[in-house]
Amino acid sequence: MENKVYIVTCNDYAEIQAKLTSLMDLMGGMQRFAHSGEKIVLKVNLLREARPDTAVTTHPTLVAAVARMAKETGATPIIADSPGGGYRYNAKSLDKIYRTCGMHRAAREAGIEVNWDTTARPVSYAEGQLTKHFDIITPVYEAQGVFNLCKMKTHVFTGMTGAVKNIFGVIPGLTKPGYHAKLNDVQRFAGMLLDLAGYVSPRLTIMDAVVAMEGDGPGAGEPRTVGLLLGSTNPLALDVVAGEIMNLDRTRNPILVEAEQRALTPSRIEDVEIIGVDLADVRVPDFKQPQTSARRFGLDPGPLYQRMIEPMFKNAFTVRPKVMWHRCIACGTCIKGCPVEAISFVKERASIDDDKCIRCYCCHEVCPEEAIGLYSSWLYRLIGPA
Ligand code: SF4
Ligand code: SF4
Repeated sequence: MENKVYIVTCNDYAEIQAKLTSLMDLMGGMQRFAHSGEKIVLKVNLLREARPDTAVTTHPTLVAAVARMAKETGATPIIADSPGGGYRYNAKSLDKIYRTCGMHRAAREAGIEVNWDTTARPVSYAEGQLTKHFDIITPVYEAQGVFNLCKMKTHVFTGMTGAVKNIFGVIPGLTKPGYHAKLNDVQRFAGMLLDLAGYVSPRLTIMDAVVAMEGDGPGAGEPRTVGLLLGSTNPLALDVVAGEIMNLDRTRNPILVEAEQRALTPSRIEDVEIIGVDLADVRVPDFKQPQTSARRFGLDPGPLYQRMIEPMFKNAFTVRPKVMWHRCIACGTCIKGCPVEAISFVKERASIDDDKCIRCYCCHEVCPEEAIGLYSSWLYRLIGPA
């Protein structure tokens, strides 16, 4: 797989068609990735029901532009994703999410369909190091090619969400929390993500970094204009470069740490060839990191830390999710998305059992009211990042 990442500047979604054409020209043209008669899944990021200007989801203008270009090759693109873990993967919730996130509009503008098939297929991946079997959504199973249309965002659990993490959306709805329950340390979770990315092997990844998300992403951070579109055939290479632009220390990105342990390339910026811009010109040095950003107090983030030290000092060394009752509308999305049943209704508001909570932050990700805050201990704040 090539280690090249292509970047063009794009300061406004209004200019996306021209900028996408420039990006595809750099990459050898859309005909390199889509061919007549093929079904191509546009795997967008539809984490939750959110307006495009909140930067939670892939912008519909980009999705429409990619769809138009793919369609010109004679291929049949289709928009698909299984939203975050708190949502049932059914036509009713998809319709709401498509509408709010602008996907119905994108499909209409490009003259393509959105996916309504909510079945899943079991698949095997013998090369998987940690996970060799997955259930994946049927459109991805049936497609000849997948385009990974991800969003540049911070992530309270994995540091950032970009190309590799976006692929987790091929796992159907409420199956997702099961992975958090089974792989409840972040390094193992990252290993599963790398296996899944290996199975899906998107032909093309395009990252929407026109307006990214900083702070406590991926569901409750703040929009931040970065003004870029990134493309690659290698999702890992794209994440290496995106992490540099976001000024995220690579040792705090479990996907890159795990990739390096597996000797996957590239896991470091020195191994990536960047085409189109000078990295120094596009870095965002003050990009706000998530407050959970793996403060490990100088300790090696290996299995010993994750299995012994962190659990022992859980409340002191980790950031706790807590429901802000005045915001909670008792919709129950967080309860459905919690992998360990740590949330229940108390007096008609969600309430978290701290002892059961494994700090996966799925509830924070999916809450439509941003009613789940993150709180750290005085010790955590005092010692600060390692
Ligand atoms: S905290 Fe309240 S509003 Fe947010 S997902 Fe849970 S039940 Fe819904
Ligand atoms: S309550 Fe804890 S375990 Fe449950 S979703 Fe939230 S962070 Fe994850």
